Amino acid sequence: MATSGISKNSDVVMYYCCTICKTERSVEIHADFYCEKCLKYFCRTCINSHRQHGRWFYKKSPYGKDKIRKWPLSKKMETSLLICIIHKREKLTMFCPDHNHLCCSKCVELNHRRCLQVTPLPQAASGKSTNFKNLSVSTENTLSKMKQCQTYQENIMMSLKVSYKEHERLIVDGLRVNIISYLRECETSTVNTTHEHMQYPISEMREGIKNLLADFEKSTIKEKKEELNLKQAPLKVVRNSCIRLHYELFHLHVAIPKVLGKPELSFIASKKCLENIQQSDIFLKENFPNHVFTVNGKSVHNVKMPSDSYICSITAVCALPNGQVLVADRFNKKVKLLSQQYRVVSHLDVRDEPPDMCLITPTEVAVAVHDEVQFITVSQSQLAKSRKLKLQHECTSIVQNQGNLYICSGTALYKFTLSGKLVSWLYGDTSADLTVYKCAVSPTGDRLYITSWDQHKLLTLARDGTLLATYSDLALGWPTGLHVTPAGQVLVCGYLSDTVLQVGWEGESKLATLATQKDGMRYPVSVCFSSSSSSIIVGLMGSDHIRVFRVE
Ligand SMILES: [Zn+2]
Ligand SMILES: [Zn+2]
Ligand SMILES: [Zn+2]
Ligand SMILES: [Zn+2]
Repeated sequence: MATSGISKNSDVVMYYCCTICKTERSVEIHADFYCEKCLKYFCRTCINSHRQHGRWFYKKSPYGKDKIRKWPLSKKMETSLLICIIHKREKLTMFCPDHNHLCCSKCVELNHRRCLQVTPLPQAASGKSTNFKNLSVSTENTLSKMKQCQTYQENIMMSLKVSYKEHERLIVDGLRVNIISYLRECETSTVNTTHEHMQYPISEMREGIKNLLADFEKSTIKEKKEELNLKQAPLKVVRNSCIRLHYELFHLHVAIPKVLGKPELSFIASKKCLENIQQSDIFLKENFPNHVFTVNGKSVHNVKMPSDSYICSITAVCALPNGQVLVADRFNKKVKLLSQQYRVVSHLDVRDEPPDMCLITPTEVAVAVHDEVQFITVSQSQLAKSRKLKLQHECTSIVQNQGNLYICSGTALYKFTLSGKLVSWLYGDTSADLTVYKCAVSPTGDRLYITSWDQHKLLTLARDGTLLATYSDLALGWPTGLHVTPAGQVLVCGYLSDTVLQVGWEGESKLATLATQKDGMRYPVSVCFSSSSSSIIVGLMGSDHIRVFRVE
């Protein structure tokens, strides 16, 4: 996928090309494998014909792209390192410490004539040591943010498409109703008519249906499709820039350890890497709203139904892309569908108390019920139960990310496939009953967040379950509900501290207190961000009302 945005851009240097494609067909194709025996690169197609080392060996020997750090320094990288980034035909020769800039002779002539300390590169590079560890950490941070930005743009494009599809469905539904009414009319009239007299209504009907279809074709559908393309175009531009910037920085990042023995290249690579980070950070600031939320409006909405036996306890909130909202009401054992105005329009009883629920597709959710996961579909404002998964343990929390389910048992976090196959155990702590209570996943799937109820902590894990950060705060007493927005912003509820906080994506610091007791927070247990209304929706324990905060 990453290659699609890259290959269209003629500016981009293909650092590793398939050796076979290049020598036999004179075309440049991104390499996906490297064979350390043959010293050759292979694309996905050519690797299939690579059988040089005997039947048993050939599949093992090549390094895949995940081992790109073990590939040698590419000739193209070496060449492009030595080229001025402004004057693409000139070789770098000097360094200006005043501007912290690598210069070619043109650069010196045009911009650094008055700079006193311009030094030839070999001299500038000698004896200089770069802190590669720090550089590597900040590079990885920027790379991770760039991936998040890309995923964010892709998610908005997807939800635009979903709302377009919804619109299309409504128009098709309207068309269907019209055609059926024509047919009905025809049915009632033909019953009382002889064969000769039927010709007239049929041709009239044919005309009518033809007009309907013509309208359908040229009017709203076409308009909406154009509107969709118009809205998607700038997102695509940003997404492709993300891919390009990520590609450049990533390749510099993996090149650095390969040039460590060569002072000049090493000096250039580290300077270029820093420059790329700065450029990427500016780009991210402009295009990735991973900022701190500010609340600029709030409202309260009653979600009680006449058939409810208990006061409501909204343990989960899911915002659908079309603006509707689903809430799980624990003690009334219901899942309720709310309109865009947060009025209950439909509901479904579940077998037992639902502690959590998550979005699977724009029209499907998965509800945790004890040791079962109940899937529910939403269609035309109606809820219907579909399949079920049986688990070997309790389910206190459930989240879906990129086709995987993350499920908490109270003391452990597991990863499952959507069909219910256990992929792996990720994290566990049996020192108390609710150490792994609720979970959430970053849009790219590289950060997992857990609230530990008993330990008053928010934990941040890597994709493989390694603990990366622990956050505790007096303002986060008995943490419960947790949510990550499509832009990667982390929201968390403090049950006994009556707060909703925004925490940095690294899971190390608080960015904002979004709601407190003053805003009606009393035992908040669930939180969800709705992109379509730019609001944060909070569910409370023992309250018939949900709280909605409009945010910027
Ligand atoms: Zn090839
Ligand atoms: Zn080989
Ligand atoms: Zn230059
Ligand atoms: Zn200068």
